[in-house]
Amino acid sequence: MIKYNLKCHNEHEFESWFSNSKEFDKLNKKNLLECIYCSSRTIDKSIMSPMVSNSIKKQDEQIKFTDKTTKHERQKLLELRKFIEKNFDYVGKDFSKKVREVYYDKKNKKAIYGTTTPKEREELSEEGIDLFSIPWVNKDN
Ligand SMILES: [Zn+2]
Repeated sequence: MIKYNLKCHNEHEFESWFSNSKEFDKLNKKNLLECIYCSSRTIDKSIMSPMVSNSIKKQDEQIKFTDKTTKHERQKLLELRKFIEKNFDYVGKDFSKKVREVYYDKKNKKAIYGTTTPKEREELSEEGIDLFSIPWVNKDN
């Protein structure tokens, strides 16, 4: 079993269990996943990334998240995803641990991305660690 933090296009976050990552992709492709708050079927995995580099900040500011993700915005999110995958190290669910290592070590400017639970995210924000999450756009649709 694998737990994912999911997010609908209205920015609602919730958790869901899947037998494996393929099951998530399969269900999402068939539009069988639904937001528990607003029943939206536009669901993505919620991925958290730290604001560590200036370039990513700039890129992020160019993207205005709205309720409706237009094709154009989707393209921008896709570009952002590519940028992150190329320039950031993926640390998965170790993210909250790793981001603290980066945050408290001034010499360590490593750019990382990964996942957190809503609780971990809250704890990090209480420690003053700035994070931002981006809707993780599927490459194949
Ligand atoms: Zn929702």
